[in-house]
Amino acid sequence: AEEVGGGDKEVVREYFNNTGFQRWKKIYGESTEGVNKVQLDIRIGHAKTVENTIAMLKDGGPLAGVTICDAGCGTGSLSIPLAREGAIVSASDISAAMVAEAQERAKEALGGAARLPVFQVSDLESLKGKYDTVVCLDVLIHYPQNKADGMIAHLASLAERRLLLSFAPKTFYYSLLKRIGELFPGPSKATRAYLHSEKDVERALEKVGWKISKRGLVTTQFYFSRLIEAVPAQ
Ligand code: SAM
Repeated sequence: AEEVGGGDKEVVREYFNNTGFQRWKKIYGESTEGVNKVQLDIRIGHAKTVENTIAMLKDGGPLAGVTICDAGCGTGSLSIPLAREGAIVSASDISAAMVAEAQERAKEALGGAARLPVFQVSDLESLKGKYDTVVCLDVLIHYPQNKADGMIAHLASLAERRLLLSFAPKTFYYSLLKRIGELFPGPSKATRAYLHSEKDVERALEKVGWKISKRGLVTTQFYFSRLIEAVPAQ
């Protein structure tokens, strides 16, 4: 029997191997060809989230030799700069297309100059092992809160020192809805987007003995992302 909402993951996998892959590859790329105003805005917002994540990580000390799990790595926007900092990066994504693209970009960007991230096709729920740091950026948006709790608990169980998560905060619900309405006047081209309240995320962390230690927020016109760092409560 399929668990409640279990079909969501298949839809997400399918989307990020096909239309979603094409769309996000473009948004997370460098070329402006065929990139519309909204996509450009999202690119800028996302780049800021990556930048803030790296700053938050470095705030805890240099990254050289630090093991980092980048769960839901997409095209490698975070994994690549982390590898450049000398981190030992394990990057994974549910989408094989994303992983192949990330691998390409990493080879191109890093060459022999840094230890390449180790890439793997895997949904984050199946990830095993222990890492100093676990990061999961802009993935929770694909999961309703009842699924997000389990994901958060699992990610925390992989992390020894800290977990960084970003998600679309529910406080921006109406503005996002309005903008999505402007974005998709016809039949929606996207998968469902789930916003999360910070309290719910905090509760999910508390349930497994973790607490939020740092907070950041990026908002542009079409992009909203709350970034948190969590650590074991004692
Ligand atoms: N974290 C990357 C970044 O910030 O550049 C990519 C963000 S993109 C909006 C969301 C990514 O999450 C997609 O690459 C998608 O395939 C991946 N994803 C969605 N659900 C996942 C899951 N359950 N396990 C692993 N990856 C997942």
